[in-house]
Amino acid sequence: MSNQPIYLDYNATTPVDEHVLEAMLPYFKEKFGNASSIQHAYGWDAEEAVDRSREQVATLIGARPNEIIFTSGATEAINLALKGIFETRQDNKNQMITCETEHKAVLDSCAELEKSGAKITYLKVDDNGLINLENLEQSITPQTLVVSIMYANNETGVLQPIQEIAEICKKHGVPFFTDATQAAGKIPFNLGELNLDMAAFSSHKLYGPKGIGALYLCKDSSLHLHPQIFGGGHERGYRSGTLNVPGIVGFGKACELAGELLVSESERLQNLRNRIEKELSQLGSVKVNGEKPERLPHVSNVSFHDVEGSKLMRLLKGVAVSQGSACNSSVIEPSHVLKAMGLSDRLAYSSIRLSLGRYTTDEEVGKAVQIIRGAIEQLRMQLL
Ligand SMILES: *Cc1c(COP(=O)(O)O)cnc(C)c1O
Repeated sequence: MSNQPIYLDYNATTPVDEHVLEAMLPYFKEKFGNASSIQHAYGWDAEEAVDRSREQVATLIGARPNEIIFTSGATEAINLALKGIFETRQDNKNQMITCETEHKAVLDSCAELEKSGAKITYLKVDDNGLINLENLEQSITPQTLVVSIMYANNETGVLQPIQEIAEICKKHGVPFFTDATQAAGKIPFNLGELNLDMAAFSSHKLYGPKGIGALYLCKDSSLHLHPQIFGGGHERGYRSGTLNVPGIVGFGKACELAGELLVSESERLQNLRNRIEKELSQLGSVKVNGEKPERLPHVSNVSFHDVEGSKLMRLLKGVAVSQGSACNSSVIEPSHVLKAMGLSDRLAYSSIRLSLGRYTTDEEVGKAVQIIRGAIEQLRMQLL
């Protein structure tokens, strides 16, 4: 590990917690049963494990177990939510409302639906990364099928006013879907109280395995979703395919742990995050993006003025952080999130996201700050 860069990219993915791995292992070998094999004990064991996990996931997010649909991850949950709604539309409803700073899983799903006749309204955000609630309300029309606004932004950690959005949607009788992938396990919330219709989650962002996630579909919602995958009728027909039992077990365990650790972990990481921001700000001409509004405790998105963004990552080899968004190609493009918040291409390009996590230590933070400060000072010298 010693030659590896310091990992400060927990928003991209997290390692599997050792307790999670331990919980999963039996389900690869001795408890390998198919959760749909209701005729024998192998199946019962698997089914029991899936039931337990469904409860663990539901408990973390304040849902009921029968509101959880397991998917292969948040991307699939988002596709199921958005395409699923569009494909059951009635009358001439075809409008969907989202915002410019969403994850690509939402933006690309919307772009795909546009080809099938959906009219997408992309709400703008202010320089804090927040949508305007009046804009949202004015954008709702009798044709609106769904409002899709993320809970916590993956690049800045900024939290949208999810409760207020839910109330506006309720008032107008429009379903509300939120991509809550980055919020789950990081800040407390209770979907049962939030009055929204659907939410997407992913296991590998909270110390569970990759390739498993969930769509929350509220029981009280009158929503009908058209399934995207057929065959066998698993997950109440919403998502067919043999259940990924080890993945589901890991996801459940990860949710249980996240719930137990949430308060202490977020406090510890917020202190480390604040320290990073304070020490980087001493460089001068540094901007913390989304600093003002409520945001996730473990995330910091920092822009450095007067540096050549294209040279930044080369000098930051000692730290694993993310810059811009490496989309379809290996070419790094300036972040669409930062640009939507009003940053120039140039400043967006000389910005980095630091996201801390369960295994981040004080010592690592100290070293990382040193590396980043050194890099910025060197790049600024070059521009003189
Ligand atoms: C990671 C992420 C996704 C995609 O999740 P996968 O499970 O990897 O498909 C979607 N939305 C947000 C906000 C994310 O951070």
